[in-house]
Amino acid sequence: MRRWLFGGRASSFADMTDLPKSLRDALQAEFTFWTTTVATHSRADDGTEKLLLELHDRQRIECVLLRDGERRTVCISSQVGCAMGCVFCASGIDGVVRNLTTGEILEQLLRLARLLPATERISHIVVMGMGEPLANLDRLLPALAVAQDPEGMGISQRRITISTVGLPPGIERLVTENPGYHLAVSLHAADDELRTRLVPVNRAIGLAEVMEAADRYWEVSGRRLTFEYVLLGGVNDSPAQARDLVRLLGGRAALVNVIPYNSVEGLPWKEPSTTARERFLEVLREAGVNVQVRRRKGARIDAACGQLRRISARAAAAEAVIPRADIASPAG
Ligand code: SAH
Repeated sequence: MRRWLFGGRASSFADMTDLPKSLRDALQAEFTFWTTTVATHSRADDGTEKLLLELHDRQRIECVLLRDGERRTVCISSQVGCAMGCVFCASGIDGVVRNLTTGEILEQLLRLARLLPATERISHIVVMGMGEPLANLDRLLPALAVAQDPEGMGISQRRITISTVGLPPGIERLVTENPGYHLAVSLHAADDELRTRLVPVNRAIGLAEVMEAADRYWEVSGRRLTFEYVLLGGVNDSPAQARDLVRLLGGRAALVNVIPYNSVEGLPWKEPSTTARERFLEVLREAGVNVQVRRRKGARIDAACGQLRRISARAAAAEAVIPRADIASPAG
């Protein structure tokens, strides 16, 4: 069953053709193979595919498959909604509904793996979908353990990134239990006043504590840290703010992942101008900071997590028909 589930890509118990027929029938009668249904499946020209999955309680979550050269990266959600309240993010607008179960987290991986041809496998996992993963470690870690298991999906821990708003107790837990993951910390501002404005949970934590926890993770894991920084035009994109960021990083061997803001309908934030972005990057580079600008993928299919769910919820509220199919519908 494991082989069928993880390598063989069965989509029902009936597919497991080397099991006795009577057993397959019994499994079919007693168990449910999938707990989710595919509410929408969209595909962008750049190869990005996005699934909106409906859970047993009708809640919806998003997960994405990204194709980049040889890489097959999947982006998965950890919660329905999010409690962190980052002001520019679509996932948290209505707060958190609930944690995903281990099975629901795993099911995103299995569903996405089945979008690939038989010759391809998922190579990387990023937990950067809806939700705050460090607020649901109890369910996330067992799912990732299956993803890593050679008898599961066999994805090396080094290729799994957990992105967090920076919850020190969660980081501490990873330090003691499981420091092998690649950790990405969402900063978005280098001073507490602005960070609290953009990432309200910062009020109770503060940057010093976030950086201290990140340092401990780095010491124990030996893995370079990534700091994420969403550039919002006229808000956190000035050269002075770039210098603040350089100062905050203080020579740490870190990578700064600059993320172009993906506009969310109804929110007032704007993308920075190209000049502002280039100036910001230049300050970082001149100070010797490793910078990467995340390329936008799948914008046309609202691949910025949390957006599709909102749009679909609105459509449902308006009693519009949402396509419900296991086959791809053209994006756009
Ligand atoms: N809760 C985790 C995972 C969230 S999603 C965290 O905060 O890291 C991963 C990244 O996408 C985070 O850095 C998040 O701030 C960023 N993000 C959220 N909304 C965005 C948007 N509209 N445009 C660009 N990046 C966004």
